[in-house]
Amino acid sequence: RSNAEKFEFQAEVSRLMDIIINSLYSNKDIFLRELISNASDAIDKIRFLSLTDKEILGEGDTAKLEIQIKLDKEKKILSIRDRGIGMTKEDLIKNLGTIAKSGTSAFVEKMQTSGDLNLIGQFGVGFYSVYLVADYVEVISKHNDDKQYVWESKADGAFAISEDRWNEPLGRGTEIRLHLRDEAGEYLEESKLKELVKRYSEFINFPIYLWASKEVDVEVPADEDVTSEEEESSEKSSTEEEGEDEDAEEKSKAKTVKETTYEWELLNDVKAIWLRNPKEVTEEEYSKFYHSLAKDFSDEKPLAWSHFSAEGDVEFKAVLFVPPKAPQDLYESYYNSNKSNLKLYVRRVFISDEFDELVPKYLNFLQGLVDSDTLPLNVSREMLQQHSSLKTIKKKLIRKALDMIRKLADEDPDESNDKDKKDVEKSSDDDEKRGQYTKFWNEFGKSIKLGIIEDATNRNRLAKLLRFESTKSDGKLTSLDQYISRMKSGQKDIFYITGNSKEQLEKSPFLERLKKKNYEVIFFTDPVDEYLMQYLMDYEDKKFQNVSKEGLKLGKDSKAKELKESFKDLTKWWKSALASDNVDDVKVSNRLDDTPCVVVTSKYGWSANMERIMQSQTL
Ligand code: ADP
Ligand code: MG
Repeated sequence: RSNAEKFEFQAEVSRLMDIIINSLYSNKDIFLRELISNASDAIDKIRFLSLTDKEILGEGDTAKLEIQIKLDKEKKILSIRDRGIGMTKEDLIKNLGTIAKSGTSAFVEKMQTSGDLNLIGQFGVGFYSVYLVADYVEVISKHNDDKQYVWESKADGAFAISEDRWNEPLGRGTEIRLHLRDEAGEYLEESKLKELVKRYSEFINFPIYLWASKEVDVEVPADEDVTSEEEESSEKSSTEEEGEDEDAEEKSKAKTVKETTYEWELLNDVKAIWLRNPKEVTEEEYSKFYHSLAKDFSDEKPLAWSHFSAEGDVEFKAVLFVPPKAPQDLYESYYNSNKSNLKLYVRRVFISDEFDELVPKYLNFLQGLVDSDTLPLNVSREMLQQHSSLKTIKKKLIRKALDMIRKLADEDPDESNDKDKKDVEKSSDDDEKRGQYTKFWNEFGKSIKLGIIEDATNRNRLAKLLRFESTKSDGKLTSLDQYISRMKSGQKDIFYITGNSKEQLEKSPFLERLKKKNYEVIFFTDPVDEYLMQYLMDYEDKKFQNVSKEGLKLGKDSKAKELKESFKDLTKWWKSALASDNVDDVKVSNRLDDTPCVVVTSKYGWSANMERIMQSQTL
C-alpha cells in the first residue's frame, strides 16, 4: 500500500510470533476465543464510557454493542468485527506490536519449557494467537478520536499501518481479518465456528452473530408457460379443497427448490450466569464460567465456589472462585500490587477488573465477580472507588470467602477427626472432596497466614483455617482445633517451635522434655510463620508459647523451687562469667532431658529463627 508506514515488532513480540507460527500445538481453536474476548473487552470499554457520555455510542448500527463473525470461503478469510472502542493509529502501533507487555517474556519463557499455548490469554498476548491459523492478518479499526486505519502483518518481523482508503467505514470498532493458512480450512466451516463459540465464548455478555447460510424453500413455477400468479393461486387453493383432477393440476403446480440465503444468526445466550438462581446452575456451568472468567483454560476444576446475593442497604450478587492453582507470581507481586482478580459490574455493566478495594490483598487469589445494583452507574471509576457501599461489599465478600474456604475443609473427609460424623455423612462425593483442603492449603496457605497478620477483625476465623505439622501429626497436616482436642489435661498453652525445617526441629533440645511428657508441639517452618506468630497471640482462650523462648510452663513442678534454690550459686556464677551484655539471665531449666544446657530467647525478643531470617534478609 502506497501510504503504508512500516514498523518493526518489539524484539520479544517478534520472538513470541515466531514461536506461535512454528508451533506444533494442535489446539489452534483458541485464537477465536482470544479474538472474541478482545472484542468483548473493547465493547465493555465503550459501554463504560457511554455511562457518562451517551453521545459516545453514536447512532444506528454503530451504537449496537455486538460481535459479528463472517466467512469468505473463496478468499479464505475469516473476519471478526466488534463495535467496541476501536483503536487510534497510536493504539494500533502500541498495542499490536511495539510495546511488549510484562507477560510477553514470561510467556516466551514458558513456551520454551512447557509449551501450553492455551494459557496465552493469561499472559496478555492473546491477540498473537491469530498466527496459529493465519499467515496474513489485517486489523481495521476506527476509534472516535481518529480516522480509520489498517494494521497488517505477515508476521515477518514487521507490520504496516495505513489510513484506510479501501474498506467500508466501520462507524466505530475493529474488524480483524484473518487470511487463513491452507491447513486451517476448517475455520471456514460454519459448523466449526458455531461449535467453538459455544465451547469457548458461552459467557461473553454481548451477542455474537455469525453470517450464516440458510437453506430456504423457494417456490418456482414448474413450467415456463404457466400462467399468471393469480391463476396459479386459485388453482392451488382449489386443489387443496377438492383434491381432484390431479393429473391436470400436476402440470401447472409450483415447484419448491432449495436456495441458500444468508442472515445473522445469534450464537450465544447472553443471560449472565450470576443473575440466575444458584440452584439452577450446574457444577459444570460454574466450572466453565470460572475458566472463562479467569482465562484459565487448564482442565482442572476450581477448588470451590460461592454464588450468593446480598440484600439490604447494599445489594449485590457475586460469584467467587478458588482457583485450582496459585499463579506463579502470586506472592512475588504481593506487596506492589493491590489488584484483585474480581471483576466489578454495576447493574450488569462491566466497570473494572482493577478495583483495589473489593477484597483485602490476602484474598487476591480469588477469582470472580461482583455485580451491584446499589453503586451509581454514571460516575467515574475514581468516584466509585470512594463510594461508601464498597466497605459493606468488601466486608461481606470477606465473610463469604472465608465461609467458602471453611466449607472446603469441612467437606474434606481427610480433614475430619470426628469419626462418628464421618460414618454418618459418608456420601458418594466424599472421594471427590478428599484431599481438596490439603490441595488448597498447599496452593494458598500463605495467603491465609498473611490474612492473620493483616486482618485483625477476621483473625480468629482465619486461624481456624490454619494447617501445620506437629510432633503428633504423623507427617500430615493438622489444625488448631485438632491440636486443642489432643491437649493434655492441665495444659494451658499451645506449644510451637519455629525453624528451618521439620527435620531440624525434630532434633531440637527444646523438645526433649515436652516429648517425654507427651506434649504436642507445632512445627512452624515457613519464614512467614515468625511474623505470623507475632500477631497470633491466642486462639480459643489459649495462649501460644514458643518452646524456645522464656516462659515455658509444663504443669506444676514441685521440685522446681527446691532446685532453683540449690543451684543458686552456680547460676549466679555462670551469669557473671558470661558478660551481662551476652545473656540476660541463667536459670535452672525445666525443658531439658539429655542436653546439659540450652540458649533460650527472651519472651519479647526475636527467636533464634527470626534472627536467622532477618540476617538472611539484610545480608
Ligand atoms: P489483552 O487482551 O490481554 O490485553 P491481547 O494480546 O489479546 O492482550 O490484546 C492486546 C491489546 O490490543 C489489548 O489490550 C487492546 O488494547 C488491543 N486490542 C486487541 N483487540 C482489540 C479490539 N478488538 N478492539 C480494541 N482494542 C483491541
Ligand atoms: Mg486479549
